[in-house]
Amino acid sequence: MNFLHSLTGCFATPVAENPTVEMVEAAYRHHGLHFRYINCEISPENLADAVLGARAMGWIGFNCSLPHKVAVIQHLDGLGESASIIGAVNCAVRRDEKFIGENTDGKGFLDSLCEKIDPTGKRMVMFGAGGAARAIGVEVALAGATHITVVNRDPQRGQELTQLLNEKTPAEVEFSAWEGVYDVPTDTDIVVNATSIGLFPDVDARVPVNLETLSAEMLVADVIPNPPRTRLIKDADARGCTTIDGLGMLVNQGVIGIKYWTGVDVDPSVMRNRLEELFST
Ligand code: NDP
Repeated sequence: MNFLHSLTGCFATPVAENPTVEMVEAAYRHHGLHFRYINCEISPENLADAVLGARAMGWIGFNCSLPHKVAVIQHLDGLGESASIIGAVNCAVRRDEKFIGENTDGKGFLDSLCEKIDPTGKRMVMFGAGGAARAIGVEVALAGATHITVVNRDPQRGQELTQLLNEKTPAEVEFSAWEGVYDVPTDTDIVVNATSIGLFPDVDARVPVNLETLSAEMLVADVIPNPPRTRLIKDADARGCTTIDGLGMLVNQGVIGIKYWTGVDVDPSVMRNRLEELFST
């Protein structure tokens, strides 16, 4: 008998609405893993103590969500390659008594993408230049996409991400200011919404893109996990595009995090089913 669980969880504020706990614990239960995942409401002032507490209690690792993805770095002992390029951590992993910061957001997206298309040599248009866009841009560029257009409303943020990708990855990256409705160039292979447009409760919000410029040869992905079928996904389906919803990214980053923490490859369908149950109620 062993009544001591290995501990993992999420440090964020606000954290009460973060459903990752349900998806991760569904996987722990399904695979009989003697682990727990706990949401912890952590303010910026308490982040340092929270990481110290996790060390003291022997936590195996933890996710970081808003607003700690950058601030947590100073409290960790090192960074994985993509986390160091992205400049943000969403998953800390205990290795040899050290907490190493990883970024699984972009890797989760990439796994979903690779189920449908090989990014090597592809051209991508990406809406957004925030945390999700940074992670996706870095991973897709490192995976071999040759050209990325960053389309963002705030030009400074968009240009910063464009510069980062040009400096740190082999892809050729350009910035396009988002003014009015965007026409997707005909030679585009992958279109990604990495903005927060369409996130619950703003479910009818439309990504300002000219739907006439989406063709059936394109793959259209959305990062919004709730609702999974955003306006963009529905519109892209109607145009005959291949589509990927935001649940895939969320589930896959969870699968990667659990692999880091437990060494086990968990079944993504168990996690996706739990999220679909939650989001359908
Ligand atoms: P950030 O706040 O860092 O970035 C938000 C981005 O959205 C910015 O580029 C912002 O543009 C843009 N944006 C927001 N509203 C509008 C609008 N009305 N018109 C045009 N652009 C807009 O957020 P994150 O990058 O961390 O998260 C973005 C989304 O990704 C969230 O909805 C989150 O739920 C989702 N996400 C999903 C994950 C998953 O696993 N499925 C993982 C991580 C995030 P500007 O710079 O001009 O303000």
